[in-house]
Amino acid sequence: MPRPTKAYIDLSALTHNLSVTRQYAPHARLMSIIKADAYGHGLLHTAQALKQTDGFALLELGAAIELREAGYHHPILLLEGFFSTKELALFKQYQLSAVIHHSEQVAMLSTCKQPALEIFLKINTGMNRLGFSPEQFPIVFDKLTSNQTINKITLMTHFANADDTIGNQSFLKQFQCFNKITSAYNQPTSLANSAAIIRHPETHADWVRPGIMLYGASPFTDKTASDLNLKPAMTLASSIIAIQHLKRGDSVGYGGVFKAEKSMKIGIVACGYADGYPRHARTNTPVLVNNQRSRTLGLVSMDMLAIDLTEVENAQLNNPVILWGKGMPVEKIAYAADTISYELLCALSSRVEKILTNAVEI
Ligand SMILES: *Cc1c(COP(=O)(O)O)cnc(C)c1O
Repeated sequence: MPRPTKAYIDLSALTHNLSVTRQYAPHARLMSIIKADAYGHGLLHTAQALKQTDGFALLELGAAIELREAGYHHPILLLEGFFSTKELALFKQYQLSAVIHHSEQVAMLSTCKQPALEIFLKINTGMNRLGFSPEQFPIVFDKLTSNQTINKITLMTHFANADDTIGNQSFLKQFQCFNKITSAYNQPTSLANSAAIIRHPETHADWVRPGIMLYGASPFTDKTASDLNLKPAMTLASSIIAIQHLKRGDSVGYGGVFKAEKSMKIGIVACGYADGYPRHARTNTPVLVNNQRSRTLGLVSMDMLAIDLTEVENAQLNNPVILWGKGMPVEKIAYAADTISYELLCALSSRVEKILTNAVEI
């Protein structure tokens, strides 16, 4: 038998989440974000499951080309644009759209003789990562519109805090800043990530940019994915490969971090941080074993982790364990590991085999 650690990718959940996204933003076009290997879910089958989208966005040029070569005719937007004039030529060849966020890119464009590149011009409204300041924006816009190589310009920004609850000053400030700058221009606009799509419909504009919600995780701490009618697309599962019986005072794993206070039955699960399970997940991080809720014990190792079977009925060798996904929201594991669902999904290791399904049944 091969190592039992698998990631089940539920393609029907991806399609479902896309249609839920459309219900949240019925008047906008959807630019589905599939960066980082589709948040760890795998590029091409995710694109296939999301083919009803209006566009794709990512930031790896190789993956964008792969998508084009696989026959997708959607707009494909590169979220960090191009990094050299050599890359710019590939944008033209493969008809890729580019986020322009830096004057170096504007300079590269001005040397470019080829016509018809579609761009998303990024404005820094307060996140202070990428984009032109409100003062630079009109100058850059004029420069770009006088450039024959530009086909169409969409104005965009990105929110730092769209996930906070209503009455959120940072979000409002960014939104007002963007509106003030762009109202004088009759250009299409794009602002909303998943959190803004759900919580701030006033930001939907022409293109929304859903990421995490497509994968069935909640962008909020105060709402679960199922509250939002989203279904988890990735289920990380493995099984029990050893059972140990601890006496009071025995410990488990590296550092002996967990010590039994009574006799216990524990299971060793074939999943560790080299599979993408977070090492920072504390004792008591929830898991499902035989569809019963249990918890991790001690430190996660590279290839294994320990779970409590003391209260689990009929727990035996080879029993299935769900680390996250169906029945066990990835947000809960992220919370226990002081991180966010995004990081866990993206960090799924390449050594974990992906099994494509149309609804997870494990
Ligand atoms: C990743 C990304 C998104 C998607 O964000 P989610 O929170 O996953 O919805 C949207 N816009 C940009 C510019 C991004 O980089």
